[in-house]
Amino acid sequence: MEEKKVTPARKRFYRKRVRIFNLIDRIKLWPSRTGQLHGVRSIKVQGNTALLVTHCNKEFSITNSINSRAGRWLRNKWFVQVCPKCGVPDWKLEKYSATLFKRHQGSMLLKKTDE
Ligand SMILES: [Zn+2]
Repeated sequence: MEEKKVTPARKRFYRKRVRIFNLIDRIKLWPSRTGQLHGVRSIKVQGNTALLVTHCNKEFSITNSINSRAGRWLRNKWFVQVCPKCGVPDWKLEKYSATLFKRHQGSMLLKKTDE
């Protein structure tokens, strides 16, 4: 059981042009093409592609494009349903819904190695 937070999720801001791999690594959510929002178990980055494994054991190979479908869907929070097999906890979804993407405000989620 995850510990329950009583206070509503604090708003957090990320840049619109944040590197999608870093974003997924941070929020641990992935919108599949069929509109399911999966929980991300692991992400292995190899150059400009990454292998993503969800909690329901699906594998996705993704590319590091900020204009990709997934990037847009993540930023706009478009999904049909949360994957029932992934068991994404409510606190994670609340955190995600409190996450805003701004052009001029927020973290780029850059690690030192990216600079
Ligand atoms: Zn899933």
